[in-house]
Amino acid sequence: MSLNHVRPWRDIYRRKSRQIMVGNVPVGGDAPIAVQTMTNTLTTDVAATVAQVQAAAEAGADIVRVSVPDEASAKALKEIVRESPVPIVADIHFHYRRGIEAAEAGAACLRINPGNIGDEKRVKEVIKAARDHDCSIRIGVNAGSLEKHLLDKYAEPCPEAMVESGLEHIRILEDNDFHNFKISVKASDVFLSAAAYQGIAEATDAPIHLGITEAGGLVSGTIKSAIGLGNLLWMGIGDTIRVSLSADPVEEVKVGFEILKSLGLRHRGVNIISCPSCARQGFDVIKTVEELEHRLEHIKTPMSLSIIGCVVNGPGEALMTDVGFTGGGAGSGMVYLAGKASHKMSNDQMIDHIVEEVEKKAAELDAAVEAAE
Ligand code: SF4
Repeated sequence: MSLNHVRPWRDIYRRKSRQIMVGNVPVGGDAPIAVQTMTNTLTTDVAATVAQVQAAAEAGADIVRVSVPDEASAKALKEIVRESPVPIVADIHFHYRRGIEAAEAGAACLRINPGNIGDEKRVKEVIKAARDHDCSIRIGVNAGSLEKHLLDKYAEPCPEAMVESGLEHIRILEDNDFHNFKISVKASDVFLSAAAYQGIAEATDAPIHLGITEAGGLVSGTIKSAIGLGNLLWMGIGDTIRVSLSADPVEEVKVGFEILKSLGLRHRGVNIISCPSCARQGFDVIKTVEELEHRLEHIKTPMSLSIIGCVVNGPGEALMTDVGFTGGGAGSGMVYLAGKASHKMSNDQMIDHIVEEVEKKAAELDAAVEAAE
């Protein structure tokens, strides 16, 4: 019996969307919510871009987007696609021809912006290229670049204008019998984004790509994204996400996973539960957690670890985690395994020891999953 079965207050009922494929990654339906990021290297610098794609994939990115601003970038895309361990989305603005070239270069998806891709005739050519090359499309509506007729009609970017923009482009794709698409309606304002996403979620069964655009730096952007995306995901809206940060793409992937992990929608790596620490702490909690986060980055197996400064909350938290350490005073603390007090460990050896225990537990969990398959 799953925990969710006995704890209905944990349930999130995902909106039923139809499933599409972005390369070999299913998006929508009952597929896991895919985590995306975007490279910020020059696309023409193939080596740097591939290195960034690989780092993002290593951090868990399921899909990576690459900007294609010119013909040289479209040419470079071919090599990037060949070297990439994950499907590549080509980001297209202004030049519909770049979309055609990107589809020819092997992109798994074309992100087109209704506000600047041009008239229906051009979009049709992009659709044809996508169809010919088994490439999906993301209709990427952005509050900052809405079509002029919608700005004239609504006077300013608003949820209704964003939904209308999205639906107009859905109509063009569907009129051309093209259904392999997803949609996003991003804004940098959390309220505007959330209202637009709710509107589009009701109006279509297309898979939804969630994002708060231009969210900000690592701390402010993480908080904005956690609130905006977190609320939508909690409502069951969203089939793939990208956290936009003025930071390394690897950070975007980490934050994306943390948002999904907080809501129990995806599990990856070690979920560290740690206390903020206070005068009662039996060891330096903050430094320890910082070092453990770094040393446990290689663990991909979903599992939990509690690092708690003292016995006020330590034994209770350890009950619910795979591995735990609770400070006890006199230079040592208690190690908990599978919720039970196991053995004492001195503070000066505990980091190495916990890394070993976590690695051991991860191997055990992996073996159990393998045996069950
Ligand atoms: S668990 Fe202990 S050390 Fe940590 S914050 Fe609470 S009282 Fe302080």
